[in-house]
Amino acid sequence: MPHDKLFTSMLPDDSDDRTLLENIRPGTWENPQPRGKYDLVILGAGPAGMFAAVKAATLGAKVALIERNLLGGACLNFGCIPSKTIISTSRLYAEMRNAEHFGARVPGEIKVDFPAVMERMRSIRARISRSVSAMELTSMGVDVYFGEASFRGADAVTVDGKSLRFKKALIATGARPMVPSIPGLVAAGYLTYEGVFNLTDWPRRLLVIGGGPQGCELAQALCRLGSQVTIVQDEPMFLRQEERDAAQILSEVLARDGIDIHLNTQTVNVRVEGKLKLVDLVRDDDKQTVTADEILVGTGRVPNVEGMNLEAARVEYYGETGIRINDFLQTTNRRIYAAGDVCFEHRFTHIEDASAGIVVQNALFWGRKRLSALTIPWCTYTDPEIAHVGLYVRDALEKNIPVKTFTVPMHDVDRAITDGEDKGFVKIHVKEGTDKILGATVVARHAGEMINTISLAIGSGIGLRSLARVVQAYPTQAQAIKMAADAYNGTRLTPALKRLLRLWLAW
Ligand SMILES: Cc1cc2nc3c(=O)[nH]c(=O)nc-3n(C[C@H](O)[C@H](O)[C@H](O)COP(=O)(O)OP(=O)(O)OC[C@H]3O[C@@H](n4cnc5c(N)ncnc54)[C@H](O)[C@@H]3O)c2cc1C
Repeated sequence: MPHDKLFTSMLPDDSDDRTLLENIRPGTWENPQPRGKYDLVILGAGPAGMFAAVKAATLGAKVALIERNLLGGACLNFGCIPSKTIISTSRLYAEMRNAEHFGARVPGEIKVDFPAVMERMRSIRARISRSVSAMELTSMGVDVYFGEASFRGADAVTVDGKSLRFKKALIATGARPMVPSIPGLVAAGYLTYEGVFNLTDWPRRLLVIGGGPQGCELAQALCRLGSQVTIVQDEPMFLRQEERDAAQILSEVLARDGIDIHLNTQTVNVRVEGKLKLVDLVRDDDKQTVTADEILVGTGRVPNVEGMNLEAARVEYYGETGIRINDFLQTTNRRIYAAGDVCFEHRFTHIEDASAGIVVQNALFWGRKRLSALTIPWCTYTDPEIAHVGLYVRDALEKNIPVKTFTVPMHDVDRAITDGEDKGFVKIHVKEGTDKILGATVVARHAGEMINTISLAIGSGIGLRSLARVVQAYPTQAQAIKMAADAYNGTRLTPALKRLLRLWLAW
């Protein structure tokens, strides 16, 4: 398959990107001949498709995996992996600038070597791509096909002129960047997450449209890597769904990093003057023009439902929310399943992993596993990170569940203080009068790691009382969770019990 046919070209054409492509879209690849009727045909080889393919093939199923672009999907190529790699370098630069607060000195001026940052990213991406390579998948027994997949009826898919018959199919075609219709934007040119990791030099002035996870993560990283960043969000706070105080901390740290923040602001027009992009912003009656060298659009993703002839397969879908599924991940054609960004409300790689297990069990082994049974945490990898699991207070109240919240600020946690990472909190919500954990939000440098403990507790039905009994290594930032649990235990002492204890001790 010639590389110039790829929808998304990888730039620059260096040895790392060539290794990457050899793994995830080999230039000499020949699609296999179909091996009769497949147990499972999968459309799309992002995390959802790949996890399902590997799980099913490992259990002995005959599996075909079809990818029109690059194996690994958004996560490997322009999502989790490249973003987290440059975020780690950007944190290092922020720490170097802040070295004096740690009693350390960085000799000389701190200069960002942006090409080296991106080179490291490409090399890490190429390294990780080995585990999802076409050869690796083939060695596991998966038939890998490159080409655009579309249904030929309710039990067959065509790709590259071949017809693949199936007992069950999985649609895992993911999503693509959503581009808002702002006059002048297309003519002026813009980046999305699909192009931003191709940069070899930083944009001196960068305007980011969108204050969701993608926009905030990339705005902070690129600011710390030297760009002068402006971020525009049309809502009153960043990370719309997160708790207000978490979003407030994020605003403060982005401002402290030097990002020019415009909340409650609409981007209404883009003009080009010479090499510059002039972006008109409106907030209430206030109009302002920001000059940028590049615009990065981070306004979310839209599901890939077009071009698959879903009507022929009797699969219902909607343009905005994607494929209609039930709790067992079946589409309106019960033999066809869907998983991942093409149909889920929450769009994260770890959900694709968990849901792939549901698809394989339900489709191939008469399972009745439900999506709603999963406990799904998520994290925005800004600094500090913002992680959440379970219900928000507003969700609980909507369900008429009374809530009691235990909050521990990170500035009360010894390890957070020693590490100079004391911004944030751990907040755990329980059902009032019980220790049943309903949900939690963690804002901390390593919130993504910390949330997993609470996720484990919710998923296993472990209450806050049991968490208080866990002996944790000292000093760790995760102790904030134990401190919240101890605070819960404190509330179990009723005045009568306290009086009794006092009497006992006096005796
Ligand atoms: C910048 C960014 C950062 C992110 N960071 C994180 C993170 O830190 N943690 C996290 O959990 N998630 C993160 N995500 C989200 C994560 O990348 C996605 O949730 C995940 O990739 C979705 O997997 P998927 O398999 O559903 O879809 P995709 O990854 O979109 O893969 C779908 C695949 O299907 C292919 N396809 C589409 N149509 C067809 C067709 N007709 N025929 C054949 N193939 C087709 C596509 O080419 C694509 O390769 C991030 C996303 C972005 C954009």
